[in-house]
Amino acid sequence: MREVTVLGATGSIGKSTLDVVGRHPERFRVHALTANRNVEAMARLCREYRPRVAVMADEVSARGLRERLAGEAAAPSVLAGEAAVTDAVADAPRGIVVAAIVGAAGLRPTMAAVAGGHRVLLANKESLVVAGPLLLAEAERGGAELLPVDSEHNAIYQCLPAGYRRGEAERRGVNRILLTASGGPFRERDPSTLHTVTPEQACSHPNWSMGRKISVDSATMMNKGLEFIEACLLFGMEPDAVDVVIHPQSVVHSLVSYADGSVLAQLGNPDMRTPIAHALGAPDRLAAGVEPLDLFALARLDFERPDPARFPCLSLAEAAMREGGTAPALLNAANEVAVAGFLDGTLAFTRIAAVIEATLARLPAEPAESLEQLMLADARAREIATEWLRQGV
Ligand code: NDP
Repeated sequence: MREVTVLGATGSIGKSTLDVVGRHPERFRVHALTANRNVEAMARLCREYRPRVAVMADEVSARGLRERLAGEAAAPSVLAGEAAVTDAVADAPRGIVVAAIVGAAGLRPTMAAVAGGHRVLLANKESLVVAGPLLLAEAERGGAELLPVDSEHNAIYQCLPAGYRRGEAERRGVNRILLTASGGPFRERDPSTLHTVTPEQACSHPNWSMGRKISVDSATMMNKGLEFIEACLLFGMEPDAVDVVIHPQSVVHSLVSYADGSVLAQLGNPDMRTPIAHALGAPDRLAAGVEPLDLFALARLDFERPDPARFPCLSLAEAAMREGGTAPALLNAANEVAVAGFLDGTLAFTRIAAVIEATLARLPAEPAESLEQLMLADARAREIATEWLRQGV
């Protein structure tokens, strides 16, 4: 029986994880769940999955949760605050931690999870983008097993040679990684109309149902930019050995190209329960409630190159990866501010890239030696991006 802690339990990944966990009561037991402020959703999850600990981001939400669960059988111990989230991870029996908080807010809890030597299912790509080398070093020190849940990286992980370790590409004959991207909801939309798109349109992804921030990132293709960084770091690949390929059907989740001419791909219906189940159960395969792929119904799979003019965020992220140091953290922070501005109606969709570019132009990247330095870079980029947002770029 493995104990599972889900950080960001009320989100899209959190709920998909619990759905898979709930199908295997003989294998998994829920230890702790965390959320931001969604008390109603957390109360429902606590009733259904009976965690020992539940953590909300602030005391008001924690009090609300305690009130809702008062008198109920097996109510969890309810705590509040970021420190309580990291404590819940640090105190968890060695098991599985699912890092599914959205944004850089997930960094410290994810760090705590890898330091604790858990199997860490990484959905929170932003933490890797912000502090990749430090996070990976901490995972090695803590003896953690870091398994990617992002469908593309999980696909790559499945297609790499058994026992592959970061940096072994050349020795193991791995030539290239082909990172697939759906192209999002605006892949074919007339670019001259993109400034008018609404948050609802940007969040209506053609293939995936996801949280609002990652949905906007998919529409700008910053999501693929963050994933490009994630792939280079996780698998120790040179940026020039990772190609982004637009594949509108989202059935081939990514590919690995080998020195002998073989190209291995992982396919499946676009449902996050597949990569989550893979990472929860590895090396065993678990039922995930996902419909089997019907190749005859699909009939065709298309692939095309991304258009850098339509998707400037992708190029910004690739450049940040090449620059290294604090550059990816600055990029991520500026993107989080810009996306929040777009979602609350203060920024036009087409200005997201402009805010990021203007922020990066004001803040030259520096070598990144500590988490504190990265958090400072993150805070500074948020300040500058917020200024650009207020005064317009
Ligand atoms: P959601 O917005 O659906 O959920 C986010 C979760 O994080 C919620 O539980 C939310 O709590 C919690 N949260 C938000 N802000 C904070 C905070 N400041 N402190 C603590 N908890 C917080 O996001 P997704 O599930 O879509 O995405 C989660 C992560 O997984 C992201 O990094 C995303 O890039 C990645 N990912 C997502 C995929 C998907 O299909 N959704 C695919 C691949 C990766 P509350 O509900 O209370 O607000």
